[in-house]
Amino acid sequence: MVLRRNLLTVAPLEGCALLLGDQQDSHISQGGNICCVRLIWPCCNTWVAGMSSFPEVSDDPDFLDVSRLSRKCRFALDPREQLQAQRFARARNWRVLGSAHSHPGGEAVPSPADHRWTVLPALMVIVAGSGNVRAWWLTGVQSDQKHELAYLGQ
Ligand SMILES: [Zn+2]
Repeated sequence: MVLRRNLLTVAPLEGCALLLGDQQDSHISQGGNICCVRLIWPCCNTWVAGMSSFPEVSDDPDFLDVSRLSRKCRFALDPREQLQAQRFARARNWRVLGSAHSHPGGEAVPSPADHRWTVLPALMVIVAGSGNVRAWWLTGVQSDQKHELAYLGQ
């Protein structure tokens, strides 16, 4: 509920946040690792056209008309906020588990840009404009290199 409110408040722009918490190891028969999100760290979407470290590629349907690119279909996390979140997490023996962002006009499924612009492997939670929340484990830059995770939140 907190994640939905935080990320959809800025609609039609994409909202974003970092997920802080701990990772509990469990035996593979119990489903492998469990990520326990303890805190949602809201971030400003700092995406701007032409960010040199985030190249656009032509296989992304959004790229067909570059003039359509905006914070409505792109997000970037402020590096200063990421550093602050890392410090906060370390002081509590937590870590930054991953990120969350919204797709106000789309589905809660990682886009081609989400795969390319994420340091892999990564936990990614996406909130659709409908309020649907889905959690993903991204393993590669191709759209099929992802696994949907059981999301036990509400
Ligand atoms: Zn996305």
